[in-house]
Amino acid sequence: MTFVATVLSLYPEMFPGPLGVSLAGRALREGLWSVDAVQIRDFATDKHRSVDDTPAGGGAGMVMRADVLAAALDSVPAGRPVLAMTPRGRTLSQDRVRALAAGTGVTILCGRFEGMDERIFEARDIEQVSIGDYILSGGEMAALTLLDACIRLLPGVMGAASSGMDESFETGLLEYPQYTRPAEWEGRTIPEVLRSGDHAKIEAWRRAQAEIDTRLRRPDLWERHEGARVQPPSGARRRNGNDKS
Ligand code: SAH
Repeated sequence: MTFVATVLSLYPEMFPGPLGVSLAGRALREGLWSVDAVQIRDFATDKHRSVDDTPAGGGAGMVMRADVLAAALDSVPAGRPVLAMTPRGRTLSQDRVRALAAGTGVTILCGRFEGMDERIFEARDIEQVSIGDYILSGGEMAALTLLDACIRLLPGVMGAASSGMDESFETGLLEYPQYTRPAEWEGRTIPEVLRSGDHAKIEAWRRAQAEIDTRLRRPDLWERHEGARVQPPSGARRRNGNDKS
């Protein structure tokens, strides 16, 4: 099954962009996902093909017109979740990414200027999504980010079937720190336990490191994680073949 991304943008030439290389690029060529970038300006109706106008109430910049956005959106086949990239949206999470990746695709509306006329969100079923508390110049990079996060989870995209499950956030924690050869570099060695070959010990060390780092670096995540732990048991807790905890 192909995961279909339809992106509505004033800069459709930005797609697939960086998603045309590496893992996502190969998956694109293999037909595991596809992208259809739609030029919003094609749906403008006046003779200047305008897509934006000055903000009602005054102020700097321009606002994307609801009528033009709606015409562009209505041209896209229904049936897939419609997302709009906006800093006013709910912050994207790995859980949401996983749910989207399990579906048949997404339609993504990319803003520019000061954003979109609010009435578009009242008139159409649109999920507003932010990728973090900072301001980009347009929604395209945010859409690329969201798509990248989804695409790597599609069946057949990542090498080892399990490699998606161990990452930061999948367990509710940050991932443990990683090391590779050389065993000594600039006088620094790799934690001895990682070279012990004792898989139970390694697993325990990684678990402990993940907890320490999450507590120190992301007290917000840690609090949520601990909150979930005191709630009833444990289906949601991390499980794998040799987890003895
Ligand atoms: N005036 C707006 C920001 C507009 S930035 C405000 O203060 O809320 C222009 C466009 O970039 C937005 O419409 C949105 O599509 C995109 N964008 C900027 N920051 C973003 C973020 N953190 N997450 C998702 N999209 C973002």
